[in-house]
Amino acid sequence: MRSTTPAWVLRRIRWSDTSLILHLYSLDYGRISAMARGALRPGGRLHGTLEPFSGIAATLSRREGREMDTLIDAAVEQPIPALRADPRAYAHAGLFSEWVSGLLYGSEPCSPTFHLIGAVFGRLASAPSPWSVTCAGIEKLLLLAGVRMELEKCTRCGGEMTGEEPAWSHTSGGLVCRGCLRPGDAGIAPGLLEFLRLCRRTDIESTGGTRLWKGGFRQCHDFLREYAEAHVQARLKFRSLAVLEDLENAVR
Ligand SMILES: [Zn+2]
Repeated sequence: MRSTTPAWVLRRIRWSDTSLILHLYSLDYGRISAMARGALRPGGRLHGTLEPFSGIAATLSRREGREMDTLIDAAVEQPIPALRADPRAYAHAGLFSEWVSGLLYGSEPCSPTFHLIGAVFGRLASAPSPWSVTCAGIEKLLLLAGVRMELEKCTRCGGEMTGEEPAWSHTSGGLVCRGCLRPGDAGIAPGLLEFLRLCRRTDIESTGGTRLWKGGFRQCHDFLREYAEAHVQARLKFRSLAVLEDLENAVR
């Protein structure tokens, strides 16, 4: 079956001198992998159309039950010159892509996820703080992946949190009130909880200006990662984190 779908390029892997394997998030099929034969051949039809984090119209050959699709043709629909010009924003786009792949591999297509990816990629380069865009994007991605964090009520009794110092349980899915505390529950830094609540009620287009304490976003990211890992029951791997660390150390 041949069909054309809008898709974001999450990752490209060199397969041979001339071919690429692409990880795509497509509007019509969700997260898929596609072989792009000849994509690196100069003058070839696909050459220059498959930049990471760009939006493309992907024409695919798909066969039921086959793991990998074949990319027959592609046209750039959303180029990303601003991301390419900004190494830090580019690395964040890579990190967010790894989150999408880690949480949504093999899931049903989901147009809100498709649009969330576009919003994050579009906002990263212009935001004063790309970290706050990435963390806000992850908060929304967790919702879409069906592992929503409870940020307002106690996950055990459903009661309101009344000004008390909140506790938190990844496995229970969020906040825990004092009355429901169990051994193993942890705290959550008040600033972190406030930031996550802000992410929940803000569009990606309006995020990106938040500042946290030194190391706060990294703490937030690790918190989100631990939460996600408790629910997907897998270790999530983020190669882009090392790239970001190098970039951040270089400017310090
Ligand atoms: Zn409770």
